[in-house]
Amino acid sequence: MFTSVPLVPRSLEDYRPIVGDEEIETIRALAEPLKGARVLHLNATAFGGGVSELLNALVPLKQDLGIDADWQVMRGSDEFFAVTKALHNSLQGAFVNISADMLDTYLQNIRLNADLWDETYDFVVIHDPQPVALKAMIAQSGQEPAGHWVWRCHIDLTAAQPDVWDFLRPYVETHHGAIFTIPQYVKNDLRMPHIAIIPPAIDPLSPKNTELPAETIRTVLGRYGIDPERPFMTQVSRFDPWKDPLGVIDVYRIAREEVRELQLVMVASMAHDDPEGWSYFERTARHAGNDYDIFLLSNLNGVGNVEVNAIQRASNIVMQKSLREGFGLTVTEGLWKHRPVIGGDVGGIPTQILNGQTGYLVSSVSEAAERAVDILEDPRLAAELGSRGHDHVRTNFLTTTNLKRYLELMHTLHGTENRHAASDMHSADIHCGH
Ligand code: UDP
Repeated sequence: MFTSVPLVPRSLEDYRPIVGDEEIETIRALAEPLKGARVLHLNATAFGGGVSELLNALVPLKQDLGIDADWQVMRGSDEFFAVTKALHNSLQGAFVNISADMLDTYLQNIRLNADLWDETYDFVVIHDPQPVALKAMIAQSGQEPAGHWVWRCHIDLTAAQPDVWDFLRPYVETHHGAIFTIPQYVKNDLRMPHIAIIPPAIDPLSPKNTELPAETIRTVLGRYGIDPERPFMTQVSRFDPWKDPLGVIDVYRIAREEVRELQLVMVASMAHDDPEGWSYFERTARHAGNDYDIFLLSNLNGVGNVEVNAIQRASNIVMQKSLREGFGLTVTEGLWKHRPVIGGDVGGIPTQILNGQTGYLVSSVSEAAERAVDILEDPRLAAELGSRGHDHVRTNFLTTTNLKRYLELMHTLHGTENRHAASDMHSADIHCGH
């Protein structure tokens, strides 16, 4: 038994006005035969990051449906987490020298976690690489890891360092199923009975995404000196080269030659202990120079979830000009808020931005600037893109869809008939067994 994360209860009924009766009834029908099932979600941290946000919504909704779901956090020493951070970075494409000692630290720590295992579940969902070897270690310690085990990979493995992937793959393959965000992230050499594609999701009822009164939006803009009478584009992103903040400034400069009143808002969450983030912030600030129509905002000047929500809602364009992107929740957030979104044609962004329909995909600064001007000069186009984007998110990327996909996977693993077959695109359960 690990540490359970305290959760705020949620009711599926609250989502009915947003997603409609049919979706709610489908979810209820899927959950009915699973009532009482014991489900554990296990990850490495209760705070921060997309995984925690997803689980904060998903687990209470399962509970609301009568499923005995729990979210627990594994244990780990500082040394262990330093190793898993290195593993994480190497899986995302950075080259990191991983020594035999580091792998030893990793396995030893997992063994300690395996010794704490004293429960039986019907389903266990292991999130990300940190606890991936747990099932193997439980078996090694002579216990029976009962139930259906699934590994949920939230990261993009396309450029994973080969030696690290070779080390982890056998542990992944001890699971009965794996979940990836998009099909391209599934490694070719992975052999498992079930591989499901489930994209991440946003919670339409969270402070980041819920509707806001016009007054709140005006207050937030006023607090940061953004002129609500003039157009502005926004990118909400860490200051990181892959998010291309310098490119965003270049896009703004070119677009401003046509749309003289344009402003640019860049929001980032900054951590005190993130030297790379700070050094990239400085580069961005230098690139912005003395332009008072560029706003560099962060959590350190009070930009939290409600502020991000307000700024996104008031933006004429939501920008996510990434050069590399796992999924891009900021794209989902912008589309949900009826905003026209311009995003880099990389990673999970094309799943969300259907080019020309729900926004524009771009591969260069000049292309992004051209699209930005098109949108800024044509409010009807902006409204059409925004409206289709909202619908696309409602169908595919909300917490409720996420819940539905998980329930479908549970049926597949359990071998129960799944009468509510998933749509091809997002829950294709690809059987690539041996
Ligand atoms: N975010 C935020 N404040 C910031 C920067 C980011 O709240 O200053 C949020 C953003 O709204 C989104 C998440 O952090 O929900 C970033 O997720 P995304 O998938 O876009 O990028 P990641 O940082 O995971 O690469």
